[in-house]
Amino acid sequence: FMRVVVSEKPAASDGGEGPGVELLCVVRALLKKIKRRVLVGDRVLVGSIDWVERRGMIENVYARTSETVDPPVANVDRLVVLFSMDQPRVEAASLTRFLVDAESSGIPLTLALNKAELVSEETLVAWKSKLRSWGYGPIFCSVQSKRGLDTLQFTLREKTSVIVGPSGVGKSSLINALRSSKPVAGAAEGDNCVDPILGSKWLEDQRVGEVSVRSGRGKHTTRHVSLLPLSGGGYLADTPGFNQPSLMKVTKQSLAQHFPELREMLNSRKPEKCFFNNCLHIGEKDCIVKADWERYPYYLELLDEIKTREEFQ
Ligand code: GDP
Ligand code: ZN
Repeated sequence: FMRVVVSEKPAASDGGEGPGVELLCVVRALLKKIKRRVLVGDRVLVGSIDWVERRGMIENVYARTSETVDPPVANVDRLVVLFSMDQPRVEAASLTRFLVDAESSGIPLTLALNKAELVSEETLVAWKSKLRSWGYGPIFCSVQSKRGLDTLQFTLREKTSVIVGPSGVGKSSLINALRSSKPVAGAAEGDNCVDPILGSKWLEDQRVGEVSVRSGRGKHTTRHVSLLPLSGGGYLADTPGFNQPSLMKVTKQSLAQHFPELREMLNSRKPEKCFFNNCLHIGEKDCIVKADWERYPYYLELLDEIKTREEFQ
């Protein structure tokens, strides 16, 4: 079963039921047959609706704007890359790895640094200017002191977001701090319940919805994700993602594009360009990328890793 939240009013009226109503849905057998997986966050077409029992059937899944793998969520609008200023202390190489992986998803990202109350303002200022030089405007926050939470809430409004980052930085704490205090209607605890889903739309007397899914197989066997409504509007996946960035979407040719400070220089309309079209910026003839930028050592490390992986593919 999946819970679908109706997001649009019916074209033809239907007893005043509309946005916000949750329907418990099964997936049409044909969709399973052609292996069309329904993910949390999917927009779906719902038919065969029983308004009394609040049941329906997912007839189709709409094209996704994006899809994350860890956790599996469709139509994610924003990734929040979360690190902490201390305990564990943010560290440039690891942060770069997470940022590159997030950049490679093509989903807009926000960089947030938690536990800001554990360090001095001077430390924050130093990190801020460092991160600016990398091309990022970080949000300093603290679940403990509540600093920056309204900025984050504002950034995530009306969007579907996923928080990623290493363990211990406060991802779960932040999810709890940002989620709406109002309970999700009909949510139940236990193995045979479904999780909250996102909105649905009316279409030709049927409804399109967005879905969050949970199978009835039980907590231990099923990795399940829900989308939690945020108090500022929008939804946040309850399961934080990629503890270990895989870099699977990064190729040695695309790597440089995932460093904003290089991207700007490489894509600018200035006449200077690297001599070779496929320049990897490691000392080739007439390369415009100098070895003097801060993240060059991390770039080289990641490039080595990706080259090795590509050789074994
Ligand atoms: P996760 O592994 O990223 O999900 O991290 P958790 O949310 O489990 O938090 C790890 C630890 O950091 C917990 O002990 C939290 O109480 C603590 N923590 C979370 N946010 C803050 C914060 O803003 N300041 C401090 N000092 N500790 C925090
Ligand atoms: Zn070059």
